Amino acid sequence: MNELPRRKGLPLVICAPSGAGKTTLVTKLRAEFPLDFSISCTTRAPRGNEKDGIDYIFLSKDEFRSRIDAGYFAEWAEVHGNYYGTPLKPVRDSLDAGRDILFDIDVQGAAQISLSLPEARFVFILPPSIGELERRLRGRGTDSDESVRLRLSHAASEIRESHWFDAVVVNDDLDAAYVRLRAFYLADTLQPSLNPALAQAVISV
Ligand code: ADP
Ligand code: 5GP
Repeated sequence: MNELPRRKGLPLVICAPSGAGKTTLVTKLRAEFPLDFSISCTTRAPRGNEKDGIDYIFLSKDEFRSRIDAGYFAEWAEVHGNYYGTPLKPVRDSLDAGRDILFDIDVQGAAQISLSLPEARFVFILPPSIGELERRLRGRGTDSDESVRLRLSHAASEIRESHWFDAVVVNDDLDAAYVRLRAFYLADTLQPSLNPALAQAVISV
């Protein structure tokens, strides 16, 4: 008997200017659904109580460059003066096993993923305003004044890229924003291309 094709994993890419609430929304989505999470490498220092191997893989710039040369990354980019990159193998492993995987990456990385993973879907989280973005960045209390200013100075150019995304979610009220993000994710998991066996299972005897 022929085996039915397995469900395929959905790559879900979430972008936002720093401070818009992306980590907060991603944490809620991961708490509700058994999604894998692409743990990025970065050359920036750990922030708050971030843990190596859980929030990021923290590398020196030399270590990061050797991994670029070794073809270790699905994509990488320089963001706010540091390198950030997505290790390729865990992404392949998740998708091959039919598990959905979340990417919290910047717009340059998202553009690269759109070329290498055409099945990926892209969500942009917008802050309600630049003033509120600054309040959130300062309220988070994890970035120096210089880092806050650097992040704010990049916000407008990142937001200008939101037009090519599949969905834009304004993170005004957190619960309302989460409902919209959740709805987009659930709708996407229903794509026939990710579920090639469903129709076949009904019509095959
Ligand atoms: P990002 O990952 O996009 O940099 P965070 O998730 O760290 O942003 O959120 C930045 C700050 O804003 C955090 O202190 C977080 O608690 C707060 N925050 C997130 N969403 C909201 C919201 N809807 N309303 C008010 N504050 C929020
Ligand atoms: P932060 O320093 O606030 O954690 O992240 C800064 C920016 O880098 C955010 O926009 C975040 O999404 C992005 N980022 C995190 N990991 C990666 C990655 O692997 N690749 C790319 N291109 N950007 C990343």
